[in-house]
Amino acid sequence: MSSTSEELLYNKKDFSSFANYDEVVSTDIKLDWTLDFDNKTISGSADHVVKVLVEGTTQVHFDSRQIRLHGDILINNNKAKYTLAKEDPVLGTKITVEIPPELRAKDTLFSVHFPYSVDPNASAVQWLEPSATKGGNFPYVFTQCQAIHARSLFPCMDSPGVKTPYSARVLAPKWCTVLMSALASRNITDPQNIDSSKYNVFYWTQPVPTSPYLVALAGGNLTSLDISARVRIWSEPEVIESAHNEFAETEEFVQAAEAITGCPYQWTRYDVVCLPPSFPYGGMENPCLTFATPTLLAGDRSLADVIAHEIAHSWTGNLVTNTVWDHFWLNEVSLDCFFYELVSSSLLFFYMIGLDCLVRTQDYFPLQAQR
Ligand SMILES: [Zn+2]
Repeated sequence: MSSTSEELLYNKKDFSSFANYDEVVSTDIKLDWTLDFDNKTISGSADHVVKVLVEGTTQVHFDSRQIRLHGDILINNNKAKYTLAKEDPVLGTKITVEIPPELRAKDTLFSVHFPYSVDPNASAVQWLEPSATKGGNFPYVFTQCQAIHARSLFPCMDSPGVKTPYSARVLAPKWCTVLMSALASRNITDPQNIDSSKYNVFYWTQPVPTSPYLVALAGGNLTSLDISARVRIWSEPEVIESAHNEFAETEEFVQAAEAITGCPYQWTRYDVVCLPPSFPYGGMENPCLTFATPTLLAGDRSLADVIAHEIAHSWTGNLVTNTVWDHFWLNEVSLDCFFYELVSSSLLFFYMIGLDCLVRTQDYFPLQAQR
């Protein structure tokens, strides 16, 4: 019996998400945010374009945690009926939005608008005082959405198999540079009321369908130095020289990964932002913008293999992703087979274990979104 690509894509239930993405699924996300360092919050809106997959679906469920709605949820710009479930201590709050009868036919597309702000204690967001930065003069903010923290940053279908393009406009104080896991480009129209004397405005677009856990933001007193035409290193000014030197082999790693896979790098840019020391991981493979801890700045490039690991995620994990978190190991084990190839040319290991993993478990991988 044959299955459609959408049936294959959404036939695994993710028990860490309330979303009914097997019935109606998000296909595009637009974020409009203002960073408020004084109050440690992000306020603005999230807009989804959703598609009805099952004829007659009456409700669409989204994940959220600690999200503060500050207005009506809208469907196609009209006030929608919605309910917030009792908060689950782990999964957060399910938002249920009623779908109007005229929008319930299979393949119907409609928009869902959430006006909201992020709680200062949101699990995805880390706000740093100036004293916690290298420069000591400006605060800093960064996000970490893996595994199920994206729902505290914006209402979403917070399951790795629900992959969508996204775009964002972010307003930040004039001293602040904002980076996201996307390409700098304008895809959201401006309202007339932005105070350009008060804010820097940044526009981001991620055209490759991306899981919610890979939406990421960093904001602070940042500068950059280029490694190559597509690789740039970002950090506070005080460490940019050492970061640029430490990660100087990054372009070579990307080229090696392309040679191993036979597949060109799909995300256009590979930038690295070297975060303040409180970043809780060695690295995080956010698309277009790997997050790296400054503890990698050994001075002799001896820890740059972490960057090779994150580059390999550009193929395994970010392009080919576990559909549900039960199979998260696939992100890392198939990557490690690739990684060993990247750093040690262990062809035998790669073929015996890596390809076998991929062949035997391919039904767990989401297809690239074809919507
Ligand atoms: Zn990894």
